[in-house]
Amino acid sequence: METKPDLVLLQIEPRTPIPDFMLREIQSKLAYADEHIRAASVSPEGIQLQVEPGTSQPELIEKVQRIVESLAYGAIKPKVQILEDYMDRPVPSRLDPMPELIRMGEVSPESAGVFAFGPLVVRLMEFFESQFLALADSFQAAPYRFPTMIPASYLGRVNYFRAFPHSLTFATHLRSDLDVIDEFSQHAACEEGELQSPSKSFAAVKNLLSPAVCYHLYFALADKPLPQGQVIATAVGHCFRYEANNLASLERLWDFTMREVIFVGSKDFVLENRETARQRMRQTFERIGLAYRVESANDPFFIGEFRKQAAFQSAFQLKFEISARLPYKESTLAVGSYNYHQDFFGRNLNITLPDGSPAHTGCAAFGLERMAFAFLAQFGLDTSQWPAEVRQAVA
Ligand code: ATP
Ligand code: ZN
Ligand code: MG
Repeated sequence: METKPDLVLLQIEPRTPIPDFMLREIQSKLAYADEHIRAASVSPEGIQLQVEPGTSQPELIEKVQRIVESLAYGAIKPKVQILEDYMDRPVPSRLDPMPELIRMGEVSPESAGVFAFGPLVVRLMEFFESQFLALADSFQAAPYRFPTMIPASYLGRVNYFRAFPHSLTFATHLRSDLDVIDEFSQHAACEEGELQSPSKSFAAVKNLLSPAVCYHLYFALADKPLPQGQVIATAVGHCFRYEANNLASLERLWDFTMREVIFVGSKDFVLENRETARQRMRQTFERIGLAYRVESANDPFFIGEFRKQAAFQSAFQLKFEISARLPYKESTLAVGSYNYHQDFFGRNLNITLPDGSPAHTGCAAFGLERMAFAFLAQFGLDTSQWPAEVRQAVA
């Protein structure tokens, strides 16, 4: 890890030994340990942090140890099941597309994890959208459109605050009070990217920015019998996940776009359709020539919920992730996932099947920015190197 001159390098020996399979998870969670941590790297040799000078080290180290302990202590190695492996497909590029995309004005960073996109990237995202829409059409999925905001009461009802508190994004507004609004309009100013305004000016949070698309469908179906006992729907929407220092490049955005195909019905109905979706996408990715693998995975639960939930997800094969190859860093990036939630939403939201039992749900979810980014990392920016179908679509 390169140390920036104005930062202090801190080496920490973890109190709880970290098994190899938890290195990546722990590294990403350390971003939420303390605001003074600017970068973290976790390896079998130990933990390296870059922190701001003047940080109270004992407190910070204690929080780091707490994160390590709750994730590493008693962690069970997940049995990673590989369902598809096309990682060796030859691809023409080994370069990080990001510097060139920024130079070309195709990507304009607005703030950490927030980007504007230019015509080439947009057309590429639209090409992938057309592939996902074809998948949705193959199921005759009903189109839906959902708001960008989601009520706090919705997320509360499905345990979201407990499972993913670290990545929430809150929406608020000024209190409807003339003094507050006057005061704000006269004094509000932005310093170093931060709005200077007393926090008591802001109203209580009733809505958040939505972290996922399919939740909205489950709420639309809540507290009643499921029409005809099954639903297949599709929607695209902006999703928000605050990923702290992990917001890097186009790999991890705060504000991104997700297309989902969503299945609600009996257990067999959901599982069969999830499998069919995977098989159809396998053909799509083969046509494009994408290098990727599909493997079992778990959601990035926060520390308190992680051990139990992650083990549960992997034991019941609830999540399969499409990991695309990033040749320039010999790494992978999840561009989509095939999920099965069992009857979790059906039970919590009271969505019932004709026999009175709770509905099961599942979804195929694709990140459009990540899809485009992984493609550019594999195929480069020279369109003559692209598969003909993609080249023609963006021409
Ligand atoms: P990761 O494992 O990389 O954290 P995830 O498991 O949280 O991702 P899902 O909840 O399965 O992701 O979301 C479906 C898809 O949405 C992901 O496969 C990815 O393409 C996209 N996605 C999720 N989080 C982000 C993000 N922060 N920035 C960009 N795309 C994202
Ligand atoms: Zn979903
Ligand atoms: Mg994941």
